[in-house]
Amino acid sequence: MKRIFNFNAGPSAIDLSVLEQAKAEFTDFCDAGYSICEMSHRNKRFEEILNTAIADLKALYTINNDYFVIFMQGGASLQFAQIPMNLYKGGVAQYVDTGTWTQNAIKEAKIQQINYEIVASSQDCAYNYIPSDIKFSPNADYAYICSNNTIHGTQYKSLPKTQCPLVVDSSSDFLSREIDFKNIGFFYAGAQKNAGVAGVTIAIIRKDLVYLAKQNVPFILRYSTFVDKNSLYNTPNTFGIYIFSLVLKWIKKQGGLAKISEKNSKKAEILYNTIDEFEGFYLPFARKDSRSMMNVTFNIKGGEEIEKLFVKQAEENDMIGLKGHRSLGGIRASIYNALNLEATQNLCEFMREFVRKFG
Ligand code: PMP
Repeated sequence: MKRIFNFNAGPSAIDLSVLEQAKAEFTDFCDAGYSICEMSHRNKRFEEILNTAIADLKALYTINNDYFVIFMQGGASLQFAQIPMNLYKGGVAQYVDTGTWTQNAIKEAKIQQINYEIVASSQDCAYNYIPSDIKFSPNADYAYICSNNTIHGTQYKSLPKTQCPLVVDSSSDFLSREIDFKNIGFFYAGAQKNAGVAGVTIAIIRKDLVYLAKQNVPFILRYSTFVDKNSLYNTPNTFGIYIFSLVLKWIKKQGGLAKISEKNSKKAEILYNTIDEFEGFYLPFARKDSRSMMNVTFNIKGGEEIEKLFVKQAEENDMIGLKGHRSLGGIRASIYNALNLEATQNLCEFMREFVRKFG
């Protein structure tokens, strides 16, 4: 069997053991005589998968009973719209603008005509850094951030402390490190990077925020609907939740989030070291203090032509997904949880060789 090194930004790499288990169980799930894909979401076996996934996620993040875990659809992008619908109380919602995904979230706040403010932005430097010393009002309805900016390759080293509920789009660094939930109100991610397959959004919501939606918010868009029915109000993405449950078990086996985070730091370190070693040829995009552990973005001296060649030659060496996002160009190596050290070392070696040939 051939497995290539997958640096895609999402959907992205899934550990082979997870895929193998899904494959082994695919046609006959745990002696049921049929597939998980053919199973009712009301089936006890499926409910067990769902409840175990919730328990495992809470255990991994050490989340207490002040929080619920819910599964929704519509991608992380639907959350941009659902958040103001559900969490805005008529005061002010405060956003930090760190790139495309926060801009999209702000757009949704705007069309709902809520009172929102952008309290910090890194737009002045093309989003190459995370603003420091962000001041949120203690009385804001919520404070909104994107913890890892997938396109620009920037990441909060630690999450801001707020007195109001902190809302975090963690789509591209979900389950990649330990998080202190103390001031977090709502924490969410699309599954397709660190948590499995596309089509399921995982959200962790604090109890006091569940029932704030106004009466004109459709039931299907209210967080309370998902909390009250344990994400079984309608048919959820059963296969996505199943794969998510396997990913959680794999993370547990790896030793949990502390260990995962250690591995992620190591991978990021060797990759950034390689970029820095050949500074002037490889041109890192993100400012050093804001570098992402998940999405490593850089340009190559000489521009588009040589970057195209880099991507092409990487593909010839079984490394895919290295082309930067269409809005930014350049190179982006996504080194999520399932992308192992060997793959990262392989890329570093390729980068050295590429300098030798073209630098
Ligand atoms: N937020 C972040 C940080 C993302 O990286 C993405 C997608 N790459 C989104 C939101 C949008 O996710 P979706 O495509 O699931 O709507």
